[in-house]
Amino acid sequence: MIQITMPLNFLGSVYREIRQALVDMGEMFGLLGQPAEIVDRPGAPDLKVTGGEVVLDDVHFAYDPSRPILKGVSVRIPAGHTLALVGSSGSGKSTIGRLLFRFYDVTAGAVRIDGQDLREVTQDSLHGAIGVVPQDTVLFNDTVFYNIAYGRPDASRAEVEGAARAARIHDFIMSLPEGYDTKVGERGLKLSGGEKQRVGIARTLLKNPPILLLDEATSALDTQTERDIQDSLREMGEGRTVIMIAHRLSTVADADEIVVLEQGEVVERGRHDELLARDGRYAAMWARQSAEVSQPPA
Ligand code: ADP
Ligand code: MG
Repeated sequence: MIQITMPLNFLGSVYREIRQALVDMGEMFGLLGQPAEIVDRPGAPDLKVTGGEVVLDDVHFAYDPSRPILKGVSVRIPAGHTLALVGSSGSGKSTIGRLLFRFYDVTAGAVRIDGQDLREVTQDSLHGAIGVVPQDTVLFNDTVFYNIAYGRPDASRAEVEGAARAARIHDFIMSLPEGYDTKVGERGLKLSGGEKQRVGIARTLLKNPPILLLDEATSALDTQTERDIQDSLREMGEGRTVIMIAHRLSTVADADEIVVLEQGEVVERGRHDELLARDGRYAAMWARQSAEVSQPPA
């Protein structure tokens, strides 16, 4: 009995280790990887970001040829501006984010950064130019330091602390038992949603990308935490081109332009007050969400 259960227990823990390693790899793939079919053109130059203008030029896209997802989307975000993408779930917002990262190539049309077609530049340089804050920041089973420095492993302690201060998470980290050496993630200290997002913001600040993609970065948080994090995101967006995908419209009212997407097409665009005055889809979404917010909690 003993002879059998011992190795089985041992195998059980090895199995868990391997499974966790695969999960980590999967998360890493989600953050950094790309489908195998996307390869650099031979001799492709690096992307040269001069200001950070992002253009979607009549973009068509389908994951599966029989089902078009984006049907001629055109958007121009001048360098340093903030574009908000709103629209119901499934309208194609995150797909636009994936195309900007070139996880996939467009079926027709083009995506350009400072005039360079994404298909013409190296993916490493493209990925280096774009910082992503997703809905739920992935924490690796490692120290806080590693989690912030992830993506820029050469970063010094002072740089990591500077990013954490700017993300307003430094004081919290210093209160942890081992400070920056505290292990976090599934097998370490569990952080709250807001704390995880601040680690994600610090990670992105350290990367210092000219272009930011926020995909529902605060939609998993409660309203008060969302408000706190929103301030940090706004600061991070200063001097950068920002594409903000948002579910709660309260977070997009300040954007330079709001684009409403429905079933892969732009149905409205303008500033918040212009769209309210138009009394169309955006105004209806705004009215609906305002009514939800003013409901007393159940
Ligand atoms: P949104 O972010 O606006 O909610 P998405 O861009 O994620 O919408 O999805 C747009 C449409 O594309 C949806 O109908 C979704 O089911 C489909 N879709 C998303 N990802 C994939 C995928 N990897 N393969 C096939 N279809 C997908
Ligand atoms: Mg989405």
